[in-house]
Amino acid sequence: MRKYKIEAFENLVDAFGSLPGVGKKTAVRLAYHVVMEDGFGGMKLAHAIETGVNSIQKCSKCHNMSEDELCSICSDPYRDTTKLCIVQSAKDILTIEESRQFNGIYYVISEIQDMDEAHLFYAVGGVDEVIFAFPPSIATDTMILYIEDKLKGLDINFTKIAQGVPTGVELENIDILSLSRALEARVKI
Ligand SMILES: [Zn+2]
Repeated sequence: MRKYKIEAFENLVDAFGSLPGVGKKTAVRLAYHVVMEDGFGGMKLAHAIETGVNSIQKCSKCHNMSEDELCSICSDPYRDTTKLCIVQSAKDILTIEESRQFNGIYYVISEIQDMDEAHLFYAVGGVDEVIFAFPPSIATDTMILYIEDKLKGLDINFTKIAQGVPTGVELENIDILSLSRALEARVKI
């Protein structure tokens, strides 16, 4: 017996299944939904993905997601450019912005090994407080020490978001109230 196969459908299942957090069953459900139940929604999704992928780049100053060379935070004249919040992922900027607790600027550093020192120095120009908004873990503590050491010659106060943010939990999974409190009650390091 030949294996039952609808190639275009399987390709779509594989594509959905390659997304983070989507298992095989969900991938089949999503693929079935867009091809059989909501073709128009499927086309809209395909278009939104294409537009997003083509038009979103990294901000040249802070590495946030941006549709332009500079993101809308870096180009906002009402932002307090003396406060720089360092995050591990541009996704964390969305979470912090939602908390409406911070009016400074950001810088994204995912991994120490990807850090461009000269670019970091450019980003901290004119900054008097660097706030680390990393989820607490041994790895992020090491990153904080490393970055602080690189910038130690500069006249900058270093703070981090207060404990109360649970260890090992990603920022996007922390409720806004806890994050707001953690930002407000940031501690000197
Ligand atoms: Zn930016």
